[in-house]
This record gives sequence, C-alpha cells and structure tokens, in this order.
Amino acid sequence: MDIHISRVHFPVTTLGPGKRIGIWLQGCTIHCKGCISMDTWQFNINKVPLNDLKQVLEVWLPQCDGITISGGEPFDQENALFELLEFLNSYKTNILVYSGFSFETLKEKELVQNGFIDVLISEPYNHTETQTKRLLGSDNQQVHFLTPLGKREFATYLEQPLEKELDIHITEETVWLAGIPINGMKEITQAGKDNNVDLSHSQAVTKTK
Ligand code: SF4
Repeated sequence: MDIHISRVHFPVTTLGPGKRIGIWLQGCTIHCKGCISMDTWQFNINKVPLNDLKQVLEVWLPQCDGITISGGEPFDQENALFELLEFLNSYKTNILVYSGFSFETLKEKELVQNGFIDVLISEPYNHTETQTKRLLGSDNQQVHFLTPLGKREFATYLEQPLEKELDIHITEETVWLAGIPINGMKEITQAGKDNNVDLSHSQAVTKTK
C-alpha cells in the first residue's frame, strides 16, 4: 500500500510530551480558512510505499517518547492511516492524531474505537476563535483521550499554560516550523519584517472552506 506524506521528522518537541516522531500526511479536503499548512492540501503528490515509511520509522521508534500524526487530513487516507497505526501500535508508544473532521463524524470509526489512537484532536481550525490551550490552533478543537495511556501521558501536559514554542528546521532552501504558532503566522512574519527578513509562508489567508 502507498501513503501520501508531506513530511516526517524526529525529534519534534512541540506537538506533545517528549521527543516525538512527527508524521504529516499529504492531502486535505477540509480547507479551513487560515490554515497554516496549506502546502499539505494537494492530493496525489508525495506518494511513498508504506513499507518504505515503516523502514524510516523503525530507526526512530526505539528512541522516541511518542508519535504525532497530523496533516493534511489523516482521515482522508483512512486505509493507509489504518495500516500505519497498526504497525505503530506494536511499539507501545503513545500516539496523538489530529483531524479537522468533527468528532461526531469520526466517533463510530473503527480507528477511533480500536485503541490504535491514544489521543485524538478533532474539529476544524477556526481562525475566528480564541487560542488559549496547548496543542490547539483554536479553542473549538476538542481533545479526546481514547485510551488510559493517552490520558496518563497528555492530561497534565495539556493543563500547562500555552507557550510560544516551535521546532525550527533549516535546510539549504527552506525553513519549516513544527508546532502550533500563536496567532497563526502573523507574529512570525512581523518579527521577520522587523529584522529585514521577508518570510513567505503557506497560511491560507484567501481561500475559504
Ligand atoms: S487546519 Fe484544516 S485545512 Fe489545514 S490541514 Fe488541518 S484540517 Fe486541513
């Protein structure tokens, strides 16, 4: 089976407790206004065999404190997501999955009920909402502890105050950020301007749902 991946990285320190493997899936049907990951919307690109991804993950899994799967929209590739989570579950580490679908839409799915996912963050990003909670882009989003492990690992973490924290990765051609920026990309682009750096980014400022 193939899977469409935007990016895979280890360690990520801003999307859950500890040093985590971050997996961003490619493709999203939801198109929230203000999305900061607009580069992950397009479908039918970045296709890799799931077995190749597993080989990459196998190197990191013994060292990681958990896994965060985001996107894109992970549930837009439900079969590949299922196989990926089935593989990851043999490693007994905690797994956080983001989805822009409502919990009402997701709650009957086998993947939400079978214990593969420890913590699910659901609901679309809403740029008109306040942003006061850790791991959430907007306060309408919901955290669901789907297993006792998820509650044990995340409950205290989520009670801590929201902080400005981002992982920054610099390659020869790009700078990319992991984490949930406060106030979208506005503060970051302004900070760049204040230092004579013009930052382009993929936040969806014009497209609507
Ligand atoms: S924030 Fe919304 S539009 Fe952006 S990737 Fe997530 S679900 Fe898709």
